Amino acid sequence: MIATTKAANAYDVALENFDTAADVMGLSNDIREMIKYPERVLTVTIPVRMDNGNIHHFEGYRVQHSMVRGPAKGGIRYHPQVTLDEVKALATWMTWKCAVVNIPFGGAKGGVTCDPKHMSQGELQRMTRRYTSAILPLIGPERDIPAPDVYTNPQTMAWIMDTYSMTKGYPIPGVVTGKPISLGGSLGRNEATGRGVFYTIQSACEHLGLELKGATVAVQGFGNAGSIAAQLLHAAGAKVIAASDSTGCVYNKDGLNVPELILMKALCGHVEGFPESEAISPSELLALKCDILVPAALENTVREDNASTVRAKIVAEAANGPLTPAADRILQNKGVFIIPDILCNAGGVTVSYFEWVQDEQHLFWEAQDVYNRLERVMKTAFRDVLKIHLEQKVPMRIAANMLGIGRVAEAVQLRAIYP
Ligand code: NAD
Repeated sequence: MIATTKAANAYDVALENFDTAADVMGLSNDIREMIKYPERVLTVTIPVRMDNGNIHHFEGYRVQHSMVRGPAKGGIRYHPQVTLDEVKALATWMTWKCAVVNIPFGGAKGGVTCDPKHMSQGELQRMTRRYTSAILPLIGPERDIPAPDVYTNPQTMAWIMDTYSMTKGYPIPGVVTGKPISLGGSLGRNEATGRGVFYTIQSACEHLGLELKGATVAVQGFGNAGSIAAQLLHAAGAKVIAASDSTGCVYNKDGLNVPELILMKALCGHVEGFPESEAISPSELLALKCDILVPAALENTVREDNASTVRAKIVAEAANGPLTPAADRILQNKGVFIIPDILCNAGGVTVSYFEWVQDEQHLFWEAQDVYNRLERVMKTAFRDVLKIHLEQKVPMRIAANMLGIGRVAEAVQLRAIYP
């Protein structure tokens, strides 16, 4: 096992979490060798003609971690800090996540190292189409189905679907999820991750005997996952006292007007300068005295150096990998109840699964139907993880990993993939 007194890279963290859970489960070395590592790793070069007329090349990745339980599934991230190790980590977490919510998918992830905030729509479209062509041999509705992640959205998915469909000669909506509704997207997909975060917070509050109405919440990362979670918590009577994005953090001790904040973020692209709020620093946000902290941005937000400042009772990991293992241990020792990422943010992939099912059946469901099914899946997964946490006396993260890894281990044994 690796030492993690300082922030490890995301893939090291993923492997360490695997080993910790596998040790508690007493998983044999043979099974570990079969399920621990990515099945396929593809690195591609993406030459793109930029608006200034020059060709610029970007590096992109698609990692399929596991197809043991079904086609690989995972988002595509556009960000300057995308690395192969990050994509491998995110793909690994997708495998356990799909198994935790018991949907018939394996794990994958993709990414392009780029700065989408400084690219035009034309540049983004050309890059997306070229990237799609480059990963085309790996993807398809029966083999690997991408979805949105950080700085990709339904428009990105529409371009991928079109590029893929052009090679086949007919529309194939099931190749991606998170599409616009008019192209075979599912009602409720856009808000699915935040909604799933909300359901797990409801379950955690119930378990801890904490009243959600009037509870105070801080949200780090006011994007798709963070803002929708904030909106639902606000609607349930919680007080969202702070929110942040990459440009700044806003705070109001009496609670922010979340619907207005969402409107401002949509119109202006930032939360900074929101009326009836004061600016605070990112470290002040993490250290706020509140009931629920929702890290909803990127990995390694809470680390060994700042974990002791966290004063929340519940940390709901809307983001993937927001706590380093060292931070995790510090928060455990402080008695913080952690809803781990592979459970907390699994609502996105769950409704992606619903979208894929609807596309395959050419039969579409009503929004309330999607919400009801999602609530059932998330609350069942929460109960399953909590049971392991309480019975085996292991932290919630290890319990979630044990559930996910256990299901993949069972599948690989039943399939006798490596006789
Ligand atoms: P997004 O692009 O919609 O939002 C990300 C937000 O984080 C943006 O508002 C950005 O300004 C903010 N941000 C970036 N760096 C920040 C920083 N240092 N401090 C504060 N804010 C910062 O992305 P998203 O889809 O909401 O994804 C957020 C997290 O949720 C990621 O970890 C992603 O992997 C995870 N996630 C997303 C989905 C999904 O369906 N969208 C599903 C599962 C997990």
